[in-house]
Amino acid sequence: MFSENLIQKLQNSKHVVVFTGAGVSAESGVPTFRDVENGLWENFDVMKIGTEQGYLQDPSFGWGWYEWARHQVFLKQPNPAHYAIAQLAEKLPKVTVVTQNVDDLHERDGSLDVLHIHGALNDVCCLYCDYKSTLPQSRIAIEVEQPISSPPDICPLCSSIMRPHVVWFGENLPSDIWQKAKEASEQCDLMLIIGTSGLIYPAASLADRAIYKKIESVQINPDATDIDTLVTHNFRGKAGEILPLLFEAAFGEMK
Ligand code: NAD
Ligand code: ZN
Repeated sequence: MFSENLIQKLQNSKHVVVFTGAGVSAESGVPTFRDVENGLWENFDVMKIGTEQGYLQDPSFGWGWYEWARHQVFLKQPNPAHYAIAQLAEKLPKVTVVTQNVDDLHERDGSLDVLHIHGALNDVCCLYCDYKSTLPQSRIAIEVEQPISSPPDICPLCSSIMRPHVVWFGENLPSDIWQKAKEASEQCDLMLIIGTSGLIYPAASLADRAIYKKIESVQINPDATDIDTLVTHNFRGKAGEILPLLFEAAFGEMK
């Protein structure tokens, strides 16, 4: 299934970037945007929960929706794809995980220093000042059965309302994280592109950058994407099945 060239490349790489999208969490039961059957984004009103303008119109609705979404993700578990990525970091000198996902499943399976270019569901920030914080697990564990209005937290510094610290439509990506992600994508020896439709820019430009720089690349996705013929190795299938096989072909059984 895997060429000798790919196995050797993986074994000998000094720096691998693993660029992930919603598909890496699909087998954990976190629906992708395009997965309309599964509920999380059902009745997803982009205006209300995906823009600051919508949030300001009804902050309690938005805050309550995110409390529910956060708890839904809390109930899920990482899958073998997250685990294989975390294990890879133990075998190679440097692995940079760059994710478009707002869930924390990479971290929960042991990946360190994950670059969340679209922010993180568990992080919140003030709408007006620079105050940021991460909600404690004890709070995320509180059951929220369905999205219901809930008044936003109040900023301890300026008493304004807080918002989820995720990147909404039309907003810039966090500049320090984005800078690191761009540099890693242009300087790595190998990029693994896992479970992303490649339709959301500027995030998708990370794969384009690596391809443009002629960096060897691997894509894993059950569906066709625009870069199928541009990557060096294209695997049509599920991340949770193919990534562990790739890891084992290069490094033997996972711990
Ligand atoms: P997307 O929904 O646009 O695309 C998901 C991709 O994953 C598709 O190409 C699909 O074919 C592929 N996929 C589905 N199941 C897979 C599997 N088992 N293994 C490998 N690939 C699989 O997601 P995107 O490209 O990440 O962009 C959508 C935006 O929405 C991003 O900003 C993303 O972070 C956000 N989002 C995040 C989450 C999350 O945090 N888990 C979930 C949904 C959407
Ligand atoms: Zn504030």
